[in-house]
Amino acid sequence: MVSHSLCSLVVALVSCTNGLTMHGGLLRSLGSHVSRLAMSAPDIERKTGDNVEQIKDTKRDKVMTFSYDMSLEPQYEKPTYPGTGNGLGGDSLKDEYDVIVIGSGMGGLACGALSQEYGSKVAVLESHIKPGGSAHTFSRMHKGGKYSFEVGPSIFEGLNGPSLNPLRTCLDMLGEDLKCETYSGLGYWTPEGYWRFQIGSAKKFEDLIYEQCGKEEGDKAIEEWNALRKRLKTLGGSTSAVSLVNLRQDAGMLATTAGATPYVLTHPDVFLDLPLTFDSLHKTVDQLVTVPFLRNYIDTMCIFCGFPAKGAMTAHILYILERFFEEGCAFCVPVGGTVEMAYAFQRALEKRGGELSLNTHVQELVYDKERKRCVGVKLKNGRVIKAKKAVVSNATPFDTVRMLPDGGDAPELPEGVREWKKVLGKLPRHGAIMHLFLAIDATDLDLSHIEDPAHLVVQDWGRSLQDSQNLCSFFIPSLRDPSVCPPGKHCIHVYSSGGEPYEPWENLVTGSPEYEAYKKERAEVLWQAVERCIPDVRKRTEFSIIGSPLAHEAFLRRDRGTYGLAWAAGTSAPFSGLLSNLLPFPFPNLKTPVDGLLRCGDSCFPGIGTPSAAASGAIAANTLHPVSEQIRLLRETAKREPKYSFLDPGPIGSLYEAAVGWSTPSSELRGDGEA
Ligand SMILES: Cc1cc2nc3c(=O)[nH]c(=O)nc-3n(C[C@H](O)[C@H](O)[C@H](O)COP(=O)(O)OP(=O)(O)OC[C@H]3O[C@@H](n4cnc5c(N)ncnc54)[C@H](O)[C@@H]3O)c2cc1C
Repeated sequence: MVSHSLCSLVVALVSCTNGLTMHGGLLRSLGSHVSRLAMSAPDIERKTGDNVEQIKDTKRDKVMTFSYDMSLEPQYEKPTYPGTGNGLGGDSLKDEYDVIVIGSGMGGLACGALSQEYGSKVAVLESHIKPGGSAHTFSRMHKGGKYSFEVGPSIFEGLNGPSLNPLRTCLDMLGEDLKCETYSGLGYWTPEGYWRFQIGSAKKFEDLIYEQCGKEEGDKAIEEWNALRKRLKTLGGSTSAVSLVNLRQDAGMLATTAGATPYVLTHPDVFLDLPLTFDSLHKTVDQLVTVPFLRNYIDTMCIFCGFPAKGAMTAHILYILERFFEEGCAFCVPVGGTVEMAYAFQRALEKRGGELSLNTHVQELVYDKERKRCVGVKLKNGRVIKAKKAVVSNATPFDTVRMLPDGGDAPELPEGVREWKKVLGKLPRHGAIMHLFLAIDATDLDLSHIEDPAHLVVQDWGRSLQDSQNLCSFFIPSLRDPSVCPPGKHCIHVYSSGGEPYEPWENLVTGSPEYEAYKKERAEVLWQAVERCIPDVRKRTEFSIIGSPLAHEAFLRRDRGTYGLAWAAGTSAPFSGLLSNLLPFPFPNLKTPVDGLLRCGDSCFPGIGTPSAAASGAIAANTLHPVSEQIRLLRETAKREPKYSFLDPGPIGSLYEAAVGWSTPSSELRGDGEA
């Protein structure tokens, strides 16, 4: 729900130079930039080590991350669960496509559907039998009734109509609607008791501040809040000057973001804030905000990106500061479940002739040693499917590097690629997640004391919000969308923060008494969280399912069940581009040192969350295609829906397009014989 749009010029600059950094052809002609990166490997080592400040310390001021050296990991067969498929599908696929996307998360589907719109022949290959990745929905039958549960996200803003949420923007670009119910608040269950953040009203937020802080501290809090908003005003204003979907990772970016020129010219101070955009938000918050209530609120608003203010990019708060207090802003429940977002992208893909192949696990990326590029994928069923232009991996970086074999039956990788693989494989990451799925009887259940389906529960403000035994969320979609369960019942998804350590789980045998006992122990805090709202929830429970990190890993196909990449903002991540010495850009590029291989998804800029993942998929699709195609679609969308007029790059965009269009997409992504 964070970081929907960003300062155009900042990102244009960074992505553009990043594009140059990771452009495979250019790398070679520059005498292999990759090998220079390899030469600086000791520095990368040091930075990685420094970044992992804390692993198990759960004090509030610590940044919790986990990291593993995957290059040292023995071959490890992932747990497979009934219900996820055997991954052996893909028989009906053709032998060759222009673009192959591995994974049907929000990133993969946005990339696939937009690439097809831009004229490529696309196949999206999904390992699971359901699309949506972390945002898929699963169902259970119980006494003849069907109950649907979300495996992941619950908090969405701006999905119910044209908006700055890039996921919704992508759907509108593709002409797909998404039916949503809306609600206006987020429930908080804290040591001080229950309170509610109401979205869409600056006045209600002030009321909440006074309610929680009293008159004297409330006055101070409002002063500090206004100071924070003022400090970030220029950056925040840029969120409506241009969208993340305007971005691409090559020189074409100059053309597609040209619509922001008037904003940049009238707000030159945006340049001074370049580093701040990517820096850790806590640096600004520490200077301006002292009132505990406000600091707590800001941390919880950031936590869906994986970090509290300490570790979150400043960019993450901009959208919230700009939009969440505007009248009309609402949280959304996609009717039928979050999987409807995936279905909308799937429709867009298939209407244009693209294919989504489920239960199709990609075993390996096929690397052609002669052409020094990724030329396709090898499926678990043994078939090789070729990609003329590129393969885009929507899997986490950890799962992606595992798919790139080095030596043995596969070709040996060049040194630079080997180094990239090694470094990505041990980047800091978030922990896993504990889940509790509840189907409850709602007979005579009075929930009039809550108004909203989505809730956050904090046990102790003194402990890290990343600690999975401290912060959790619960979501009751059936309060707005009765279609997800039989009448008179409710479905509840309770989940921990993404800091559940995986190690204690990895040696447990699923189904064993030890495993079941540990599940019960770790899920107790989730039960207690719901009990704060529904005291007799255990008695009302018709059935419950505890999802361990092993189940999370198996169903969401994320290595060690990780919530995602966790490079805390404040320093540049390895492989984040030429400007990384000047700007603390906390993501490795979506371009890779392997020609014909791109990444997308929530481990890429702009980070974790469905809007961000969709945005990264759009950026990947844009990067893969001529800038003229992207500008055509931006203009068509702006013309169709006036709310999207900011997407149009305007006349300056046309000038730039004439100047740089020939160079797009970059040569290593053009396909057969052209690289
Ligand atoms: C519990 C939870 C709560 C969350 N809450 C929110 C929230 O409230 N709001 C919000 O916006 N976001 C939330 N998020 C985050 C959000 O869901 C994710 O950031 C986003 O959905 C990730 O999308 P993605 O494109 O990176 O890909 P993923 O969802 O990770 O999908 C990747 C896909 O690739 C497939 N794949 C992997 N390897 C292979 C292979 N070898 N072959 C074929 N397919 C493969 C996987 O099966 C998967 O379908 C939450 C996430 C979780 C887990």
